Amino acid sequence: MNRKMILGFVAGVVITLGLLVSVPDSVVQVATGTTKDTSMVPALSPTKALPDRDVYFPGTEDLLPEEMRITACGTGMPSARPKQAAACFLVELGNGDKFLFDIGSGSHERIAAMKIPYDFLDKVFIGHLHVDHYGDLPTFWLGGTVMNRLTPLRIWGPSGSKPEYGTQYAMDRMQEMYTWDIGTRSGVVDFRGGELEVNEFPFDGVNAVIYDENDVVIRSIPAVHGLDGAVSFILEWNGLKFVYGSDTYPNKWFIEHAKGADFAIHECFLPPTLLVTKQGFQPLEALTVGTQGHTSPEQFGKVMSLVEPRIAVAYHFYNDFDIEPEVRDRVRKTYDGPLSTAVDYMVWNVTKDNIRVRMAAKDEEVWPSPALKEKIAPDFRDAINFSEFTLSGMENFPEVVEPLYEEINKKYGTDFKPGL
Ligand SMILES: [Zn+2]
Ligand SMILES: [Zn+2]
Repeated sequence: MNRKMILGFVAGVVITLGLLVSVPDSVVQVATGTTKDTSMVPALSPTKALPDRDVYFPGTEDLLPEEMRITACGTGMPSARPKQAAACFLVELGNGDKFLFDIGSGSHERIAAMKIPYDFLDKVFIGHLHVDHYGDLPTFWLGGTVMNRLTPLRIWGPSGSKPEYGTQYAMDRMQEMYTWDIGTRSGVVDFRGGELEVNEFPFDGVNAVIYDENDVVIRSIPAVHGLDGAVSFILEWNGLKFVYGSDTYPNKWFIEHAKGADFAIHECFLPPTLLVTKQGFQPLEALTVGTQGHTSPEQFGKVMSLVEPRIAVAYHFYNDFDIEPEVRDRVRKTYDGPLSTAVDYMVWNVTKDNIRVRMAAKDEEVWPSPALKEKIAPDFRDAINFSEFTLSGMENFPEVVEPLYEEINKKYGTDFKPGL
């Protein structure tokens, strides 16, 4: 049975079951074991909810104690586009721990769409300091304090060949950059969630443990990308091994230490031909960027044929209807194992004996989840005052504002009065 016949056969089974959902290739290849026996399918009714929707609705599913759920919150490029944010993968474990691997530009919106209380999202691992891999950290950090994070945000990232190429340097400057923003919050809101814990580790550690808490061990391996100071990560928990490549040229450390992973993510750049025709690169520039600075689909396939993961995940390209088939065909020249070509909001549930791949349905109108801790009332004496100049410009409109205070005071039995 050739590949098309297999797809046709599985599609036929799915249609027979009456499941009117699209089935990505990756689902077909990995999760055929989840295909239901027809005797298990309940009778459909015109008035009852449809059974077994093969979609992930954030915030509605328990994670099993032995389960790992991975959500693509960014799979694209540094260039902005509504369909794909830049690199970010959320890993949730059945023990309650959650980890973000990279937090590229545009990804915060996708993270928020998962509707997870922000105090649970307190660990971010940055593979390298390109903007498409940590460009949304400031909005997640400071915006997160408005989304009820009251727990310090913990960051892990590599050193560089010089201190100024390291994560600590970047984090120190990021905090300086937002001095005005932080100043506005002093004495006004509970800002405990604005505290940063920075853990910089040597970029040249090979399979070095950089995190070991709550039966979760995360190791780093060097990557070859940009400058010294890029790494890949390996998370191991409960007999499951998750590998995140951030950006890297194919390298011996990934091939050796990602070996046998349950879930392995590696960059897979656009092929040079498409860099020329679709992105306007010069041919030599396309070859250099596409095969020397990054990993082409054929190189990605070669790496995965050596790593042999339970599922290989390709990302970091424009995953469109006219692009994906060519990328997939090129990967297939060198790799014939299970594969997902990731796009934002793709979700994988991984256990020891099954990998289920779905797309998340997103609610566009997300609000912050409730705070998990009681908020500490701010001390207005810590607030930074306006100058006399700015104060002189205020129009107080007491006839409009005082009724708002009365409304709240009446409802909550308080005695607040207007005034900064
Ligand atoms: Zn990069
Ligand atoms: Zn990148």
